[in-house]
Amino acid sequence: MNRKVLIAGNWKMYKTGLEAVQTAKKLTVLCTNVEDTEVMIAPSYLSLPLVAQVFQNTNIKTGAQNLYFEKEGAFTGEISADMIKSAGAEYVLIGHSERRQFFGETNASVCKKIKAAIQSGLKPILCIGETEIQRNEEKTFGVLENQISDGLKGFGLGELGDLVIAYEPVWAIGSGKTANIEQVAEVHQYLRSVLEKLFSKDLADGTRILYGGSVKPANIKEFMSIDNVDGALVGGASLDVSNFIQIIQFGV
Ligand code: PEP
Repeated sequence: MNRKVLIAGNWKMYKTGLEAVQTAKKLTVLCTNVEDTEVMIAPSYLSLPLVAQVFQNTNIKTGAQNLYFEKEGAFTGEISADMIKSAGAEYVLIGHSERRQFFGETNASVCKKIKAAIQSGLKPILCIGETEIQRNEEKTFGVLENQISDGLKGFGLGELGDLVIAYEPVWAIGSGKTANIEQVAEVHQYLRSVLEKLFSKDLADGTRILYGGSVKPANIKEFMSIDNVDGALVGGASLDVSNFIQIIQFGV
């Protein structure tokens, strides 16, 4: 099954519009010859249309870090999937652990957001991951399975062709700690088996599963050598283009 590697950068709440545009321009130059790997940047909402314009007619895609599931209405401060799509995004992160941790995101709201993304033609990147306590209590697999089955509840097979999953152990995000090769290999294989059980072998084989959590130029090669790892979701190390291009090139 041909799953094109995706290296996605999450700029979180960093960079003003000007800084985002400057970084995007530098990245565009560095990525000119990148062909086999798909590259995506998720800037802040405010920078998104500016960055999308820089990436227009280049090989770099733009994504949002979140959306609100209602189509439109009196929801002060929120942004809809259609707004994101019309600003130039192709992807959207949904259920990032920081949204779950600080903003009350649940598997039920994640499910509504994925539906809204698909209806607007955005490719959802469903972020899942266990906390350190859950791992220590050997609840990792149950937590991940619930995040997938509840987050994708009610979807028909035909709707999930553009789905991407990002496995990000919460304890590895921004902490400098990473899951080890055995942990990542075991989880990614398990996630593919969950997709097969819930949907179909075709969907399981075709869905890209990214690893995220303190990915750096020094460790990307190791992660990319693991079966069932189809790319990376990168936070801190995506903010600096010289780090990020090394990750895109697998640390070479
Ligand atoms: C993330 O924001 O999804 C992430 C993985 O962050 P970091 O790479 O900084 O751990």
